[in-house]
Amino acid sequence: MSTRKVVVIPGDGIGTEITEAAQVVLDKVAKKAGLKLEFSLAYAGGAAIDRNGVPLPEETLSLVKNCDAVLLGAVGGPKWDSVSPDIRPEKAILGLRKALGLYANLRPIRVSEILTDYSPLKSEIVAGADILIVRELTGGIYFGEKCESETADGVEQAWDKELYSVPEISRIVRMACEAAAKRKGRVTSVDKANVLASSRLWRRVAEGTVKNYAGIELNHMYVDNCAMQLVLAPKKFDVIVTSNLFGDILSDEAAVIAGSIGMIPSASIGDGPGLYEPIHGSAPDIAGQGLANPIGTILSTAMLLRYSLNELVAADKIEQAVDKVLAKGYRTQDLYKAGLTKVSTEEMGRLVAEHI
Ligand code: NAD
Repeated sequence: MSTRKVVVIPGDGIGTEITEAAQVVLDKVAKKAGLKLEFSLAYAGGAAIDRNGVPLPEETLSLVKNCDAVLLGAVGGPKWDSVSPDIRPEKAILGLRKALGLYANLRPIRVSEILTDYSPLKSEIVAGADILIVRELTGGIYFGEKCESETADGVEQAWDKELYSVPEISRIVRMACEAAAKRKGRVTSVDKANVLASSRLWRRVAEGTVKNYAGIELNHMYVDNCAMQLVLAPKKFDVIVTSNLFGDILSDEAAVIAGSIGMIPSASIGDGPGLYEPIHGSAPDIAGQGLANPIGTILSTAMLLRYSLNELVAADKIEQAVDKVLAKGYRTQDLYKAGLTKVSTEEMGRLVAEHI
């Protein structure tokens, strides 16, 4: 079996602790599955500004372009709040997305029975919800033409253009269909086709694309209705596919129903190496104290195995090990309640590894 290269970018704040914990788990599953993984360490964000003066050094770019997958902690923190805007730590994320051509962001929201009481929604509404949000990441209004200020008829105005092309829409819908084929086979395409021309094209292309996937069921939903349904009936969704702007908002809304920011992984995927990271930031308020929940990062390694290395069984093993550890009552500080067992970031990593 060939060696697969994984670049680990801890980043800043809790990034080092959570990626170390996740690497212990990845190492264990690799040993069990007979996978050969080669890890390289790279710098990005504030850590790279301190070392190299820029948030995304050339040596990091070269490593990530020549690997199979990238595992990222998080970047940023108050130490770099006053650096010049063109070298802010967050620029590293945009730079990585651009360099790797990452056009799809995948965010799974899975509410296990064990954690339903952490959700702001009632248990009976969320228990068993299992949604995958597929967000278009490189097009739409965030990257469209814009005007910061102009005067029309003596009045100041500003504008941003939402533009989607047929290839951009069809490739993200294909990604959603392929993901749905490994799940329950249902895709909900979210748009605002009653108002927006770009959404009407989105809807037409989604319908044409899904015809190529036997067994995938497509339905359409307006974004305002989707925002409501996510809190009223999250269990009715399987895969949601949507534009950059709508996906940005809906994926944060959906993350909240799972109850804890520390638990949710994400994947950004293109045609080359994928980038895997938890959805939270660098949490400078708890950095270096062993308080961070590493499960979002650990579950990101499961996505890495599934989507970049095509190691589906190994990915399932990680997710099952996380469930087992939670079922036994182990919790990091963020999810701790009386009667449970409080563990550090490092201990949580070791426990998950032991349950594989
Ligand atoms: P944050 O996600 O870092 O933290 C928000 C709150 O959630 C904090 O109270 C934090 O302690 C808690 N938290 C986050 N992750 C946790 C975990 N794994 N375990 C337990 N608790 C956790 O958001 P923020 O405070 O707004 O941002 C901090 C820094 O992170 C900023 O510099 C921001 O720009 C950056 N950031 C980076 C990314 C990224 O790298 N992708 C994403 C978001 C924010």
